[in-house]
Amino acid sequence: MFDSVLIANRGEIALRIVRACKALSLRTIAIHSEADADLRHVALADQALCIGPAPSRQSYLDMDRMITAARLTGAQAVHPGYGFLSENAAFATALRDAGLQFIGPSPEVMALMGDKISAKAAMLKSGVPCVPGFDQALPDEVGELERIADAIGYPLIIKAAAGGGGRGMRIVRTRGDLRQAAQITREEAGRFFGKEDIYLEKFLEHPRHIEIQVLADAHGHAIWLGERDCSIQRRNQKLLEEAPAVGIDRQRIADLGQICVRACLDIGYQGVGTFEFLYENGAFFFMEMNTRIQVEHPVTEMLTGVDLVAEQIKVALGQPLTLTQQCVAPSGHAIECRLNAEDPWTFAPLPGRIQAWVAPGGPGVRVDTHLYPGYEVPAHYDSLIAKLIVHGSSRQQAIARMRVALSELMVDGLATNAALFAALLQNGDFQAGGMEIAALERLLATGVLKQGGSV
Ligand code: ADP
Repeated sequence: MFDSVLIANRGEIALRIVRACKALSLRTIAIHSEADADLRHVALADQALCIGPAPSRQSYLDMDRMITAARLTGAQAVHPGYGFLSENAAFATALRDAGLQFIGPSPEVMALMGDKISAKAAMLKSGVPCVPGFDQALPDEVGELERIADAIGYPLIIKAAAGGGGRGMRIVRTRGDLRQAAQITREEAGRFFGKEDIYLEKFLEHPRHIEIQVLADAHGHAIWLGERDCSIQRRNQKLLEEAPAVGIDRQRIADLGQICVRACLDIGYQGVGTFEFLYENGAFFFMEMNTRIQVEHPVTEMLTGVDLVAEQIKVALGQPLTLTQQCVAPSGHAIECRLNAEDPWTFAPLPGRIQAWVAPGGPGVRVDTHLYPGYEVPAHYDSLIAKLIVHGSSRQQAIARMRVALSELMVDGLATNAALFAALLQNGDFQAGGMEIAALERLLATGVLKQGGSV
């Protein structure tokens, strides 16, 4: 049990968590770096503490400072948000050792799902469909490596077992490229993720990214809350998410949801989580599980009316789920656009000071943001500045509402990628729905979006 929560994050998600905690009458403690003293949630939290300089390594990624901050402020629980330490099993262990409650699954489950090789093994055991591949750490020896790869067939993708954020992956199209690709990925894996283990699986040429939201308590109850289609990506990073997924049989998705629920119970999962799948030719293939709240969680909240962050906290408080699978009735259509402080066409980050900021409104429109006029977007962190989320009774209405919302949005002093979304919403392929992951980059390469896109 706890009645105070330290928010180990920044930006829009830290604000989102402060709001959820306050609604549950929990005391909130904001921590921040020297660059972030002016953040909105810092002003709104019951207490705030600066924990270090701007670079994340010395602030938001520093476990010792987090734990010291919790001790100094008397916090009893820690909400990790997304990114930073949110999927770090060592952090969850350190909190447990310090007598603090981590708002998320157990460190053991985080470690199991944080390593893509052990995650895949656990999922196969629970009957979750996975991308065909060699589901152990790859050997060094070239002959053996070639035999394994030949048996699966090209093209292949080599991945770091501990990888994340779209990094530590390499596509291999021919046998001749295998050895070098394995070598480079192994080096990167060691350098970026501190673990050299790599594995390989079939590379799917035209997949969509479909994910299932789950929620599980500590009393053996788990439910799924629909899917999200996150196929609109650039460089393996999501830009626009929507639900429900267009053109996929509802029963197939419901079956997949039930499989995910069973897998949660099998591994002893607690809290909110997301099973990520590739979808190609009518089949789903598990990629990984995110053991935390995700950026795109509002899409599901708009569709179901469930406050996922509040549910996550209640589970950590030891409360049994009051929601049953029958209560979850997604309705209508929701879309989220990730507004980034970046050039819409080159994706180069463009930090700066907000001179004017007017958020859109109206029925079915939600804006999750920490921005306000005068706020300076620091260069040290992710470029996400706001999430525009709309809900409509149909996909067509949701698209129309997003179009209006984008036209109302006013950001002065900072460049954003709003023009990209405005152009995309007008594009025929997007309007038809069901675009594959690679489609946005193909459209960008042709230049059609840029020509058509002004807000
Ligand atoms: P990360 O943990 O870095 O997010 P993922 O394993 O989730 O890595 O993969 C990120 C993205 O890489 C996917 O959304 C997809 O675009 C691409 N990808 C990953 N595995 C495959 C695969 N087997 N075939 C095709 N694309 C893949």
